[in-house]
Amino acid sequence: ETIGDNFDRTVALHGDRDALIEHATGRRWTYTQLRADVDALAHGLIRLGVETGDRVGIWAPNCPEWTLLQFATAKVGAILVCVNPAYRTHELSYVLDQAGIRTLVAASGFKGADYAAMIDEVRSDCPDLHDVVVIGSPEWNALPDRDGDPHVLARRQAALSPHDAINIQYTSGTTGHPKGATLTHHNILNNAFLTAEVCEITEADRICIPVPLFHTFGMVIGNLGATTHGACMIYPATGFDPAATLAAIAEHRCTVLYGVPTMFIAELAVPGFEGFDLSSLRTGAMGGSPCPIEVMKQVVARMGMTEVTIIYGMTETSPVSTQTRVDDPIDRRVSTVGRVHPHVEIKIIDPETGRTVPRGEPGELCTRGYSVMLGYWDQPDKTAEAIDTAGWMHTGDLATMDDDGYLNITGRIKDMVIRGGENVYPREIEEFLHTHPDIHDVHVIGVPDERYGEEIMAWIKPRPGAAGLSAETIRSFAGGKLAHYKIPRYVHLVDDFPMTVSGKVRKVEMRATAIELLG
Ligand code: ATP
Ligand code: MG
Repeated sequence: ETIGDNFDRTVALHGDRDALIEHATGRRWTYTQLRADVDALAHGLIRLGVETGDRVGIWAPNCPEWTLLQFATAKVGAILVCVNPAYRTHELSYVLDQAGIRTLVAASGFKGADYAAMIDEVRSDCPDLHDVVVIGSPEWNALPDRDGDPHVLARRQAALSPHDAINIQYTSGTTGHPKGATLTHHNILNNAFLTAEVCEITEADRICIPVPLFHTFGMVIGNLGATTHGACMIYPATGFDPAATLAAIAEHRCTVLYGVPTMFIAELAVPGFEGFDLSSLRTGAMGGSPCPIEVMKQVVARMGMTEVTIIYGMTETSPVSTQTRVDDPIDRRVSTVGRVHPHVEIKIIDPETGRTVPRGEPGELCTRGYSVMLGYWDQPDKTAEAIDTAGWMHTGDLATMDDDGYLNITGRIKDMVIRGGENVYPREIEEFLHTHPDIHDVHVIGVPDERYGEEIMAWIKPRPGAAGLSAETIRSFAGGKLAHYKIPRYVHLVDDFPMTVSGKVRKVEMRATAIELLG
């Protein structure tokens, strides 16, 4: 099945149900209304000359137009290229060029940035770029074609294969330059469906989506996870806004909430948190980066998300590979990334020898199955480094698996610290420090050290009003509880961490700053 066919089936089953609500403006669509707008936009794209396989870029924060374009491109078989709203001219011209974008749909601007002006600046360097349509402009308003011949669209849709590329998703760029993962209908539709199945989502659910749509979490798990089940999508704000998220949950009686850990941390810290009625919340998913046990416990206890799951995955695998199940024992639900997803294979190998490690020992996680991307767009060498000839995706993540099949992600291979010959996993130290009452958030890195090769440094964001956090107090807090070589030598207090737009901490940047600080 293609995404367009799946969408039409949902409309046939649930046409009168709420499909989409924008909290800030109150704009809303039922499935029947959404389909009318999607189809009109699809006809408009055809009239514009967009062919199957053409790349259509979307450069906008979360908004209903984003979603209309997602489904319209899926119906005409154009490959949607998600462009990060934080990009500026340099990165914009890189993606336009790298993906060969023919048609770019863009917001007029976001967070003070004038997108239209930036597009003008780079346009002459991007020979493939044929049309630019700014959302809200006269061109945008004229784009939907409500009188298009339905047979034309139906024929176009029927000619598509589920194994066609339908989306280019750039990775977060946590470890370097973002790479464009090329995903098919089959990849993302199935992953969205199966992840929603684990959360036991039905057409009665109302799903709060504060995660960015331009990554797989928002577009696949959020949007497609909702439409495959006829549930309602609710966008609390264009950019992430923790208070607006809580307000949207309360107002629209959301039952499902998605987020990366930093989002949940921010939501739990909203002033007046107890005043928001979150009693409708049932399930959701946390993932995208390590989920601290303390935060998970609070999400269950204070947000009432008793059936919350943890997901692990990566853009290249559509994204989800493992997930905790609603009926898993509570300790495993907060402390592991769950078990392998249906129809996905995993193995944990020694990255040096390629051999599977004994159960319980750490190694590189590899995954294989329907969810593995076609490859990195126009980068066959990078694809060959990531996916081996037997089809295994080498994730670059270190994992362990227990006897019952539950996985733990112990960190990224690139983030592992080797101090005096001992392997140190920052994750373990972060988990421990999260139990300190004055610590709001913490991330641990290795910094170069003459004596030990590397030393441990903790970046700590204190809780408001907390005083007295220092290298000394942290060391005495950890003393006797952590092995001596894991105790941070350096503590750096910060107001915030360097982040990707998807809310991930950029340890590459932290390490560079740390080297300067210590310099
Ligand atoms: P880049 O590949 O550009 O460096 P990235 O890997 O952060 O960036 P994504 O594809 O968005 O880009 O993120 C996937 C990665 O996020 C995984 O490889 C893993 O390191 C991390 N991750 C995702 N979910 C979890 C989780 N539940 N627990 C721990 N880590 C996670
Ligand atoms: Mg990655």
